[in-house]
Amino acid sequence: MSATTGEGTSLFEGVGARLEAAARVAEVSDDTLERLSLPQSVLKVSVPVRMDDGSLRTFPGYRVRYDATRGPTKGGIRFHPRVNTDEVQSLAFWMTFKCACLDLPFGGAKGGVTVDTKQLSLAELERLSRKYIDQIADAIGPDMDIPAPDMYTNAMVMGWMVDEYATIKRARIPAVITGKPLALGGSLGRETATADGAFHVLKTLRPKLLEADDAAAASGRGRDAPSGRGISADGSAPSVAIQGFGNAGARIAELLAHAGYRVVAASDSTRAVRFDEGLDVAALREAKSSDGELPANAGEEIDPEELLELEVDVLIPAALEDVITPDNADRVRARSILEVANGPVAAEADETLAANGVTVIPDILANAGGVTVSYFEWVQNRGGLRWSAQEVSDRLEEQMVRETENVWKIASECEVSLRTAAYALGLERISEAVDATGSAEAYRNGR
Ligand code: NAD
Repeated sequence: MSATTGEGTSLFEGVGARLEAAARVAEVSDDTLERLSLPQSVLKVSVPVRMDDGSLRTFPGYRVRYDATRGPTKGGIRFHPRVNTDEVQSLAFWMTFKCACLDLPFGGAKGGVTVDTKQLSLAELERLSRKYIDQIADAIGPDMDIPAPDMYTNAMVMGWMVDEYATIKRARIPAVITGKPLALGGSLGRETATADGAFHVLKTLRPKLLEADDAAAASGRGRDAPSGRGISADGSAPSVAIQGFGNAGARIAELLAHAGYRVVAASDSTRAVRFDEGLDVAALREAKSSDGELPANAGEEIDPEELLELEVDVLIPAALEDVITPDNADRVRARSILEVANGPVAAEADETLAANGVTVIPDILANAGGVTVSYFEWVQNRGGLRWSAQEVSDRLEEQMVRETENVWKIASECEVSLRTAAYALGLERISEAVDATGSAEAYRNGR
């Protein structure tokens, strides 16, 4: 695929390679690949904001709908100084596959404003959020495109946005945006959904991975596994290291500790700590919420880079993009990587990790719990329903386990990585929808 952004940069530098690998496995029509070669629409707006000091500043804003074949498009809004057309398009493309992989009735979109929110007062942030919605209001709607929070936007920002949309439309339309505060039509379980979903994915895959390891070892093909493969003969619990002890990272740490894992290392933007017998996750969470950072005395303080290279059963990058690259991929000694962050493993590192026997559980599956509960929020809003926390949790588990099984089936039958399998699953579903309105073959045959 060779689409460009119109600004001369290749849109598919990372995702393109992965899509090509998936296209070799999936049953996909040429029409689909052609359809996915360009985004459906790219909206660029200016967002003028009256600042507290009386001056007027204008920020660039974007909303990209990548593909709406499977349903209205869905994707977050990011406020960040690095936001540009290429980034937003790539993220919208990613969302298209994430929604298809999870079988949600959505296409993919993404939006953003190029702004450093740390420089804004709360009132300036509110004016920016409302003005952005003003500028893109004609392009969104519950049947067209449904935004949600992303980096540096949160439930309160979504609250301002849904309120602004109501003012523009002169009607309350909560299903236009998800990730709202509960009181404005948000869903129970949305806050913890990403980590909860990732936990279900890991829980489903782990026995299969261990079995595959055993089979490989029995045939003399496997490499030596690190300690703690399940609750092992020597009694050790599986070990996990987590980069990014934020919303998603801290929650999955809690779930895994509860499930008997040893969280041997954790980091945030201030420091990384290590304690091989297992960190006290509850104490870390408490310190993080009261002081805003991980306590230095939780264990031995290590270089944050070292965390990525520890010999653990599961490494969980839950902070930033591109943290495992060709520069450090060879030093990763984790048995598997659970991608809770978006894009933590650079495409160029995939091959090295695979060659070293590191299994990567890809972001479009691993962190899809968030968009899945966003879908539940949209369903509840449209039906005037309020599901209990238990109902949300049960439905999330069912959906995550089902699609993880589907990804595993493709990976084992076609002998490809879980990432290629996840993309292939999404691609087949998109292709089915594209071809449902007539494929090139059907037109050539006249039916
Ligand atoms: P968050 O802001 O709550 O947490 C991020 C954490 O990463 C913070 O604790 C921060 O201190 C830490 N961090 C920042 N720079 C770091 C560094 N260099 N080294 C180590 N830690 C660092 O964000 P979140 O909602 O938990 O999201 C984390 C990741 O998960 C992001 O990549 C996000 O795109 C992805 N994700 C989140 C959701 C969701 O619903 N929250 C959904 C899908 C994907």
